[in-house]
Amino acid sequence: MKNLAQKIFGLMLSVILVSGVAFAQQEVNIVTTDLGSGVYLLKGQGGNIGLFVGEDGVFMIDDQFAPLSDKIKAAVADISDQPVKFLINTHWHGDHTGGNENFAKSGSVIVAHENVRKRMSTKQVIKAFNREVPASAQQALPVITFTEQVNFHINGDDLNVIHVPNAHTDGDAIIHFIKANIIHMGDTLFNGNYPFIDIGSGGSIQGYLQNLENVIELADDKTQIIPGHGVMSNKSSLILYHAMLADIHNNYKILKEQGKSLEEITEIGISKKYDGKYGNGFIKPESLLNFIHASSVEKLDKAKLIQPNKTDLHDHGAGQSAH
Ligand SMILES: [Zn+2]
Ligand SMILES: [Zn+2]
Repeated sequence: MKNLAQKIFGLMLSVILVSGVAFAQQEVNIVTTDLGSGVYLLKGQGGNIGLFVGEDGVFMIDDQFAPLSDKIKAAVADISDQPVKFLINTHWHGDHTGGNENFAKSGSVIVAHENVRKRMSTKQVIKAFNREVPASAQQALPVITFTEQVNFHINGDDLNVIHVPNAHTDGDAIIHFIKANIIHMGDTLFNGNYPFIDIGSGGSIQGYLQNLENVIELADDKTQIIPGHGVMSNKSSLILYHAMLADIHNNYKILKEQGKSLEEITEIGISKKYDGKYGNGFIKPESLLNFIHASSVEKLDKAKLIQPNKTDLHDHGAGQSAH
């Protein structure tokens, strides 16, 4: 009985985390935390929101689910008398973009990586949860897109919005507030839990680890790190998180090189010593292993792409451009 309840709860969480359509109909309050230098953390339901307030206007990172937009606007109004001028999406998932249409209607300019717009423009399937997400309304789509990086110079700070290749998805961006010394990582960090890596949306364990290394490099001992989910983090905690994930990935690689199958590796359990601490979120140890395994399989598939078979190349090429 308890097991079933846990399964249902886990399923609900996965729906909540990836879909802007499904939304748990419970009372949600927006809780605001002042991080200093005009930057705030807003927590409600869905991805953590970053807010930057100053003379030039309100800059917001992610917007959770559509039914929360009015509450989020009210929380912004408690801090500033201006509406949200710029809205950044860290990636396409509905728990970060669900409010896009509502904010666009009240004048926000939505900015995101090119692949966020591409994925939101068409129906998506999140393979890990076997879930279909319909295309978003025209007004919900980002109107300014970038491929590598875009910088904002507002409210006396310089903000670098940096694309991270193939980490949580293929459209991730992290936001680095240079003067405030704050980094919003979107879902390239699930603080305190194993990460969800959306392989079907172009995510990979290799990209996930690479980005953690990059952010550790960018950060200093005073940097405040906003994760996509979970409580605030910092450099030393990020180093531990990276070591954990790299260790599990290494365990996988060793067994794979020994010729072990996914079933055998699952049986052995490559993450046992971390499961108590990180395996109780909505990503269980088996799911993490599946993401790692799929990342290495996907890599093999990509290697196949450069084989000189014209028919194959054409087919793959056409398939890829559709994403
Ligand atoms: Zn999320
Ligand atoms: Zn996500």
